[in-house]
Amino acid sequence: MVNSKRLVNTFIDLVKIDSESGNEKKVRKYLQNVLCELGLDVALDKKGNIYAIYHGKVTGPSVLFSAHMDTVIPGKGIVPVIKGDRISSSGDTILGGDDKSGIAEILEMLFVIKEKEISSPSIVIIFTVEEEQGLKGAKELQQIQVDYGFVLDTSGDIGTVVIKAPTHYSFKAEVIGKSAHAGIEPEKGVNAIVAVSKVIANCKIGRIDDETVANIGIIEGGSATNIVPDRVLIKGEVRSLSKQKVKKHLEDIKSTFKKECQKYGAKVDFEAKKDYISFDLSGEKELLKICKKASQSIGVKHVEKSTGGGSDANVFNKSGIPTVVISTGMSKVHTCDEEIKISDMVKATEYILAIVKKLKD
Ligand SMILES: [Zn+2]
Repeated sequence: MVNSKRLVNTFIDLVKIDSESGNEKKVRKYLQNVLCELGLDVALDKKGNIYAIYHGKVTGPSVLFSAHMDTVIPGKGIVPVIKGDRISSSGDTILGGDDKSGIAEILEMLFVIKEKEISSPSIVIIFTVEEEQGLKGAKELQQIQVDYGFVLDTSGDIGTVVIKAPTHYSFKAEVIGKSAHAGIEPEKGVNAIVAVSKVIANCKIGRIDDETVANIGIIEGGSATNIVPDRVLIKGEVRSLSKQKVKKHLEDIKSTFKKECQKYGAKVDFEAKKDYISFDLSGEKELLKICKKASQSIGVKHVEKSTGGGSDANVFNKSGIPTVVISTGMSKVHTCDEEIKISDMVKATEYILAIVKKLKD
């Protein structure tokens, strides 16, 4: 039923269009055209997200399928290479299967629905911008009225659904000491780099428990070897499946900064920002039943898992639409070794078509 040649062609077309975060214009144009040709009502919002509606003829739960248009870097001038069942990049860029495989599969699903006149309830399609920049596009979406959502944006065997994702906070700390000539009067300075080293030595970083992780990812400071540095900027993040734990650990990090800087005579400006909140769909029996039935009907295993990463599904869930993340077949994403199997893309498309068919059962 799925036309694998058309699916691959769509995917190749998409990855060849540069769309690093913030530069989704060309791919958006391409998608608007395809969606219009397919007969959907297509609209854009100010942020550049695409909304399209397929008006179904039967009743049943209404659903949304979503994927993001942007890619991480290096994503310019991608040259896809097909070898047998595998598609990869030529090695010096990502492939962009994250998340163009999701988009190609959604489009192929729509082609098949039209071609085979498959009856289904109404379907909303959303393609977002700047997902890789902290879900910036999805956060600007208008409220949508649907019963369930499916975000095509994870790896793993087809049939894998993400039902739990973490709350994510990022933080920024500026440690302020006092500069002085390092050769003549170092005792008059307060070395911000040394103060930070004491903070980091006393912070719990990495895996905190089975639900919680923390990271310091950026450190910037100092200007010359003969100057006692007076400023260091540190950026990091904390994630947890538990909203309480994420707050608790963030507080721990903040108080360690305060305590250690104070001991050393430095000051600290600490700012934290909530990027997105967790979801847990283990109680959404109807939604999970649809996923399970879809898996069974195409002969793949239904697997429910939790993730340490965020996606647009965090935003949809927050807005009250129970939304799972499903595998597109993408693998080794965010690296130049990224690849995808054509057979997995076909299977993922069969899976979402099965979801559509199960809606009216
Ligand atoms: Zn993605």
